[in-house]
Amino acid sequence: MRLANIDGRLAIKGPGGFVDAEAASQGRFGPDAQTALTEWAAFSSWAQEFLASPEAATAPRLDIGAGTVWGPPVPRPAQIFAVGLNYRDHIAESGLDVPAEPAVFTKFVTSLTGHESAVHLPEGAVDWEAELVVVIGGHCHRATRETAWSYVAGLTVGQDLSERRLQLAGPAPQFSLGKSYPGFAPTGPELVSTDEFADPDDLELGCRLEDGEVLQKSRTSAMVFDVPELITRLSAVCPLLPGDLIFTGTPAGVGGARTPQKFLAPGDTLVTWIEGIGTLRTPMLAP
Ligand code: ZN
Repeated sequence: MRLANIDGRLAIKGPGGFVDAEAASQGRFGPDAQTALTEWAAFSSWAQEFLASPEAATAPRLDIGAGTVWGPPVPRPAQIFAVGLNYRDHIAESGLDVPAEPAVFTKFVTSLTGHESAVHLPEGAVDWEAELVVVIGGHCHRATRETAWSYVAGLTVGQDLSERRLQLAGPAPQFSLGKSYPGFAPTGPELVSTDEFADPDDLELGCRLEDGEVLQKSRTSAMVFDVPELITRLSAVCPLLPGDLIFTGTPAGVGGARTPQKFLAPGDTLVTWIEGIGTLRTPMLAP
């Protein structure tokens, strides 16, 4: 199942396009996209039934065009977790050792946006980080590796945009602040439920500049702490709530680790993809 937040409304993808969830469910779900997550079990069972029904083939499709506003598939997560140093090649390019524990920080919720949402670049050195984003679908406290995936509603594409000077300033680096300017957490365009993947632990991911070079390309199977391990370790401390996001770390190829260093500039458009999920487009503008 594929969901999106289109013009502020929960939409579900059927054959030939997106259908408005509120209309299709006769008011049971939507219009707010967050309602799919707050009642994930009920929503996903309704959605599967709907997609298999004759109504799915005949329901009106939403018009998608240049004026379409793609919101984040989860518009109001209570918590956004993010993990640094989670791919060996990125740890090596950062000149650090593989950590014994995940390096956890937050991206504050005001940084969250969707597909095609422009970022006004702040002063400094803004870098890209293509990341798999896990969306939690149930209340999850003290999960085990065996139960971890059962708490996941689905996966989406994300960018952990990072202003490196602020991120690394001070005696205790300001990861959360340097990665939370407005627009620094684009996600989407679609949330894809876990049943859509043959192996959700092994997906190609990467990013490139539009009409330009590939900047990052790897596979999620290269994570140091994989998705079950992250959920186990995070939920050992913090109960995870329906709709929470986990940015799972980035592979090698960030601009700050290059010689010479390279950062995003006004006019650039960052294109981020994950196999089986989709492609997230993020234009960069002047401050
Ligand atoms: Zn990151």
